[in-house]
Amino acid sequence: MCREASLETLRKIGSELVRISQISALLGWDQETYMPREGIEDRAVQQALISGWQHDKLTDPEIGKALEALGVDLEVEKLELTQFDSITGLNEQDRAFIREMARNYRREKKLPKSLVEKFARETSISQSKWVEAREKSDFDIFAPHLERILSIEKEMAGLIGYDSEPYDALLDTYEPWMSTKELVDVFDRFEAPLKDLVKRIVNSHEEIDERFIHSRYNIRKQEAFGKEILEAMGFDFNRGRLDVSAHPFTTTIGFSDVRLTTRYSEDNLKDAIFGIIHEGGHGLYELGFSGKLKGNILADGASMGIHESQSRLWENIIGRSYNFWVAFYPKLTEYFEDTLKGVPLESFYRAINVVKPSLIRVMADEVTYNLHILVRFKIERGLLNNEISVNELPRVWNDEYEYLLGVRPENDSEGVLQDIHWSLGYIGYFPTYSLGNLYSAQFYAKMRKYVENLDEEIRRGNLRPVLAWLRENIHQYGKVYPASVLCKRVTGESLNPRYFIDYLEDKYSAVYGLG
Ligand code: MG
Repeated sequence: MCREASLETLRKIGSELVRISQISALLGWDQETYMPREGIEDRAVQQALISGWQHDKLTDPEIGKALEALGVDLEVEKLELTQFDSITGLNEQDRAFIREMARNYRREKKLPKSLVEKFARETSISQSKWVEAREKSDFDIFAPHLERILSIEKEMAGLIGYDSEPYDALLDTYEPWMSTKELVDVFDRFEAPLKDLVKRIVNSHEEIDERFIHSRYNIRKQEAFGKEILEAMGFDFNRGRLDVSAHPFTTTIGFSDVRLTTRYSEDNLKDAIFGIIHEGGHGLYELGFSGKLKGNILADGASMGIHESQSRLWENIIGRSYNFWVAFYPKLTEYFEDTLKGVPLESFYRAINVVKPSLIRVMADEVTYNLHILVRFKIERGLLNNEISVNELPRVWNDEYEYLLGVRPENDSEGVLQDIHWSLGYIGYFPTYSLGNLYSAQFYAKMRKYVENLDEEIRRGNLRPVLAWLRENIHQYGKVYPASVLCKRVTGESLNPRYFIDYLEDKYSAVYGLG
């Protein structure tokens, strides 16, 4: 096969893969938003069929032949980024495309279809067992299922192969090209400063009044306000929607069809607003890929960590900033005249930035959040390295919470059973939340240097310069650059947790009057 024909073969299969995942995304979106409850049985079969189709497509022998014709050595023990730099005569996008096709093909080919299907079956059962276990707050109901998922994931990690420990193989699913060793190094650099900051905040004994956040807030008004913010962020409702689901998420059905979801609580103003801004950040990334990537597997986030950096940057760094609310608080008080009357901007700002060690990750503030992730990361690693057994999980979980956050769960529901991830088989996913926080601060530090009068523009409610900078430096490239390469290109250095720590120190020294 000549090079051009090989590339054409890969493009054809690649675009079919994109279509298959878009179809699956649409089914998934429907399942979480409008599908009647009893539709689940058929939906599970439909999705399983698509998973099989996807696996067949990803392992199509034509991919292997085409990659070899293009000079990619698939027999190497480990794919290295540099391997693809040396392919000559192609532009950057095509080289990246070949790199990602090779990565997916090698990975998927090592997993027998029967194992992939078994995994799909086990996780769909274990999801419902997890729901039951959490409702009854009884880990024993979930334990045997987690045991099976863990054993499949260990088997998968062994088949995929890894550098130093099985976690490498699983982390790579979500954070391509990053090793556990690099991750540990990053985490080690922020654990102590973060614990120290939390301790100083707790010791300040500053009580922030946030009772008004829990008054009654009309849901239609919350939605209207949320949409106004999305529009100010630059979200185009001709290319996307906002709907309601139990767990907020963003999913992509097409190049110009991105769906956001949120949930509203009448007695918590923070839930929906910050959820909408967060998902809006994900959505803007998905809508910001260059037109050149349309229908290409590269029209995707560089990694889950980079994706999360986009949502966190909008939600926390912009959305929880004082400047942002100088512009938007007057609008919010128009919507909720009676409840927010008499609450000055200062008080509102402090109330949306309360820091308090707590038990539930999704409710955590931006300071303690990463400690919740550390607990999970340590445990996942311990499970895969056979240092922790499933049966001792509740105790280990509670001990870690006490050690890192100073709080101890009283039951499994508010402890080890709180997250859905393990029941879905998402081991290796949690760290990407923390990476998102770290990347967001590093990107923002750069943005502030380059965008003139950024603070003043935000104070005026003009968010266009923020989006423009993100589009130019991050969004347009999609998956063309791996996360580490993108980070260096954008900020001039590798991921450095110092930016995040400095950001928190600055902000919360002011909020809590720390000396
Ligand atoms: Mg997110």
